[in-house]
Amino acid sequence: MSRVAYVNGQYVPHSRAAVHIEDRGFQFADGVYEVCEIWNGTVVDMEPHLDRLDRSLRELSIKSPMSRAAFIRVMRETIEKNRVKNGLIYIQINRGVARRDHYFPSANVAPSVILTSRSVDPVKKAAAGAAGIRVVTTPENRWDRVDIKTVGLLPNVLAKQKAKDAGAKEAWFVDNEGFVTEGGSTNVWLVLPGKVLVTRPADHGILRGITRSTVIKLAEAKGFRVEERRFTVDEAKQALEAFVTSASGPIMPVIQIDDTKVGDGNVGETAKFLRKSFYETAQLTKLEVAGTMPSRC
Ligand code: PMP
Repeated sequence: MSRVAYVNGQYVPHSRAAVHIEDRGFQFADGVYEVCEIWNGTVVDMEPHLDRLDRSLRELSIKSPMSRAAFIRVMRETIEKNRVKNGLIYIQINRGVARRDHYFPSANVAPSVILTSRSVDPVKKAAAGAAGIRVVTTPENRWDRVDIKTVGLLPNVLAKQKAKDAGAKEAWFVDNEGFVTEGGSTNVWLVLPGKVLVTRPADHGILRGITRSTVIKLAEAKGFRVEERRFTVDEAKQALEAFVTSASGPIMPVIQIDDTKVGDGNVGETAKFLRKSFYETAQLTKLEVAGTMPSRC
């Protein structure tokens, strides 16, 4: 079955889905987005993702294009139309279409809304999680509002390509004091002796990952102590284990940082355990049966 995208009130074939050339998302990266995991026919942590989307819109003074109920309906329809049981749903809202000019357009310009959804093979994903990933480090070069989930991701793109070119999967940004901020598309964690987990505080230097928040709850419920503090690359290289979190991961063990193996270079037991337990703590929203909802919103 061919893929379908939601674009500004209509479902269109994915191959022909498009926004206008003067969409501000296209010209200025003037837009925000969210990615939620779809697991076993459920949307993972949907409400916190939609809360963060609202926050990102508020921070940029983009008006919310539709109610939460309408949003959820479009999410469900997009997932159903693409027959996704395991995979991702992507939501993007741009400030809208207007003659190119840096100033915000007039208040009656409607934001653009785009949703896509695609399947991810759960077997391949499990295999990737079981193998772990390698990461490289790279100087932090982003603006100081990376807490807003904007589509302005060029530094992240360049950092992740640098990782790929080096045969790694993720790049960790390192600030000018030597502390790790976050990955190109993930939050970073260390495992220390005594059931201690360390992750950087969710200040303006990182995105407050939804998966990060769920893993904090999960870890505490499982008897770990979570320290939200900064850590250096050296500390990370000496940790028992390291892992990264994101909606698409959701937990990916890190087995090597630059040229240094983490621990014995194998996937650690803590990352394995948290990965296995993740869906006990995540909020899982069941999708409704196909055909019960109107096709337009
Ligand atoms: N940091 C960055 C820069 C990201 O792009 C992401 C993924 N969206 C994350 C962290 C993880 O956030 P989440 O757990 O909400 O996917």
